[in-house]
Amino acid sequence: MTTTQPKPTTTDAGIPVASDDQSLTIGPDGPIVLNDHYLIEQMANFNRERVPERQPHAKGGGAFGHFEVIGDVSAYTKAALFQPGAKVDTLSRFSTVAGERGSPDTWRDPRGFALKFYTSEGNFDLVGNNTPVFFVRDPMKFQHFIRSQKRRLNNNLRDHDMQWDFWTLSPESAHQVTWLMGDRGIPRSWRHMNGYSSHTYSWVNAAGEITWVKYHFKTDQGVEFLTQAEADELAGKDGDYHQRDLYNALEGGVHPSWTLKVQLMPFDDAKTYRFNPFDLTKVWPHGDYPLVDVGRLTLDRNVSDYHTEMEQAAFEPNNLVPGTGLSPDKMLLARGFSYADAHRARLGVNYKQIPVNAPRTEVHAYSKDGAMRVRNASDPVYAPNSYGGPKADPARTAEALWYADGEMVRSAYTLRRDDDDWGQAGTMVREVLDDAARDRLVSNIVGHLLDGVTAPVLARAYEYWRNVDKTLGDRIERGVRSKGTDTGQPSA
Ligand code: NDP
Repeated sequence: MTTTQPKPTTTDAGIPVASDDQSLTIGPDGPIVLNDHYLIEQMANFNRERVPERQPHAKGGGAFGHFEVIGDVSAYTKAALFQPGAKVDTLSRFSTVAGERGSPDTWRDPRGFALKFYTSEGNFDLVGNNTPVFFVRDPMKFQHFIRSQKRRLNNNLRDHDMQWDFWTLSPESAHQVTWLMGDRGIPRSWRHMNGYSSHTYSWVNAAGEITWVKYHFKTDQGVEFLTQAEADELAGKDGDYHQRDLYNALEGGVHPSWTLKVQLMPFDDAKTYRFNPFDLTKVWPHGDYPLVDVGRLTLDRNVSDYHTEMEQAAFEPNNLVPGTGLSPDKMLLARGFSYADAHRARLGVNYKQIPVNAPRTEVHAYSKDGAMRVRNASDPVYAPNSYGGPKADPARTAEALWYADGEMVRSAYTLRRDDDDWGQAGTMVREVLDDAARDRLVSNIVGHLLDGVTAPVLARAYEYWRNVDKTLGDRIERGVRSKGTDTGQPSA
C-alpha cells in the first residue's frame, strides 16, 4: 500500500476514467446507459476473474527464491543448474491435494511441493510432494483416486467411506496411507516439511551415461507437525494458516531453506534390484542408496500478484533441461502429458508466455499463434527451411533414452523378489515410528474410520492394516469397536 499521490485510474486501454464510484445514468435517478464502457469493462472483467481452479492441488501458495549448488554431482549430470558454483532463480508452490481453493490449509492431506528453476538452459521443474511415495502406481487409477478424495456426486460432501473404499481395494496405497495418517500428514507449516520428487528420474552426464535419481529436499527448519486436534482447531480459526505463515515469515526477513540431496542408482542396478525401483509406491532404502548433497533452495521473496505469479504458475514434469530426464515410472510418463494438458485447459495454449512461466533464456520455438500468443515470432514458421530459421542441435541436448521391447499388454509391473504392497509400510510402522507416534497413528486412523465409514469397508480396513502390521490392525479394530478408546494393550 502507498500513501503517495494516487495515479489516475484508467481503463484497460490506458484511457483516464471519469469516476471510480458513479455509473453514467440519465439523470441522477434514471437508468444506466450501455455506453458507460468503463462500467461495462469493470463488470465484464469481474465476471471473468477466475480461471478454473486446479484439479487437484487447487489451494496453495508459494514464493520466489534461489537455488545454489553446494556439492559436486558433475560426474552424474551435465545439467548447468547442478554444476559446482551454479546459482539460479526459483519459484516454489506448496498446496493441499483434495481441497478446493478456499479449503483449510490444515486438512490432513499430502502437500504439493512444486518447483521451477529458471536455468541458463531453459526451465527445469520438479513437481513433487512432501511424501516420498504415492497412492497408486498406474496412471489409469489416478483420476479415480482423486475423485474418491473429493466430493460425492449426490450430496457434494467429502466422504471417508468413499476414501477407504478406494484405498482398501487398492493395496498399493498402504505405504502412502500409512504416511498420510501419521504425523507428517499435517505439517506444522510449509516451512517445516520435506519435499520429494517421489518419482525416479534420470540424469545424463557429459559422456552420455544415465544414472537413476530421486530428489529429496530436506527442510533446514526441521520437520514439525500438527496433531489432529491442533489442525482441527486451526481449520476453524484460520483456514489460510500455512499461506499466512510463509507470507509473514518472508515479510519478516525469515528465509526458509531446504537442502537438496539425491539418491543415485547406477543404470544397470535397476535391472536386477530386489524390487522395481520405478514403482512410485516404494522408497529406495537409504541403506542401499545413501543421500548425496547437491544444493540449497532458499525462499526470499513473496509474490506481489497472487493471480499472475501463483494462480497462473504452471509446473510440469516435462520441463527437463539437458542432463535430466524421465524414467520408466508409468505414473511419471503419464504426468508428462497430463500436466501440460491441464495448463492448456486452464490457462490456454500459450501459458508458457505468461511471465512467471516464461524462461529467462531466449525462445526459438516453432509453436505458432493460438489464443493469447503475445511474444512476437518471425518467419520462417516451418522447418526445415532455407531462410535461417532455428535448427535443432542434438549436441546441446542430452536425452535419457533406454531400451524397451515386448508385446503390448495391459499389466502390472513384472513382480520381483521384494515387490509387495505392505512391506515398506510395515517397516515404517515398526522401525521408523516410536511408541508415541504409533499411538497417534492409531488414534488418527480410528478417528478417520469412525467418521462415516460403513461396515463392509470397515472390515476391509481392519484387514488392510493387519497386512501392514498385525498389532496395528488389531489396535485399530479394537479402537473402532470401542469408539476410539483403544488403550494400546495387546488383544486378548
Ligand atoms: P531410514 O531409517 O534410513 O529412513 C527412515 C526415514 O523415515 C527417515 O530418514 C525419515 O525421512 C522418515 N521418517 C521419519 N519419521 C517419519 C514419519 N513420522 N513419517 C514418515 N517418515 C518418517 O530407513 P529406510 O531408508 O530403510 O526407510 C525405512 C522406511 O522409512 C521406509 O519403508 C519408508 O516408509 C520410510 N521413509 C524412507 C525414505 C527413503 O527415502 N528411504 C524417506 C521417507 C520415509 P527423511 O529423512 O526424508 O525425513
